Amino acid sequence: MLLIGLTGGIGSGKTAVSDRFAALGVPIIDTDQLSRELVAPGEPALGEIRADFGPEILTDTGELDRPALRRRVFADPAARRRLEAILHPRIREAMLARVRSLNAPYVILVIPLLLETGQQDLVDRILVVDTSPEAQRARVRQRDGLEDDQIDQMLAAQIDRNTRLAAADDLIRNDADLHTLDHAVARLHAKYLALSASS
Ligand code: ATP
Repeated sequence: MLLIGLTGGIGSGKTAVSDRFAALGVPIIDTDQLSRELVAPGEPALGEIRADFGPEILTDTGELDRPALRRRVFADPAARRRLEAILHPRIREAMLARVRSLNAPYVILVIPLLLETGQQDLVDRILVVDTSPEAQRARVRQRDGLEDDQIDQMLAAQIDRNTRLAAADDLIRNDADLHTLDHAVARLHAKYLALSASS
């Protein structure tokens, strides 16, 4: 089974792209979703986070206070590394377990921080969704109601656009409308089916 790693900057359109692959019947494994499942109450990772970051990192109902955790690790690189050491091996393991349970010509792994976390070796091809920083800002502003400086901080925390583009085996430029995106995904779907049939 061909493993396609889908990545791209914040608000570039990863979900819009993966939704379109899903609509074509392609299995999608989303690392953001896996990481949310891994920190559900009762999960060992949540216990480790609580032990490291203290009980104030949980809400009154015992769930992970994600905004509080984000603020902590944003301000403290060492804390970020400790959080990543708790989460990343588990995410990788859960992802591979899910891959093994599938039977399909190819699968899309949505890994926003694929390059930042050095997981290129995990996938056969890297699919980058690219959008101009102006469009990223406008879409995130509209979707999340964030201020420009907050968006700029998030953009600055990610790998730069040229490095990401240089790593791409396949590229979707998501600067036009969603109808155009349908076509771009349909073309790549045909390509991936052909590649998986010939491998
Ligand atoms: P994040 O990194 O924050 O998870 P993402 O890369 O998954 O974001 P999306 O959520 O797919 O990005 O897209 C960001 C927003 O822009 C969404 O509200 C989406 O509907 C919208 N959007 C994406 N592509 C287009 C497009 N081509 N035209 C108009 N709106 C778009």
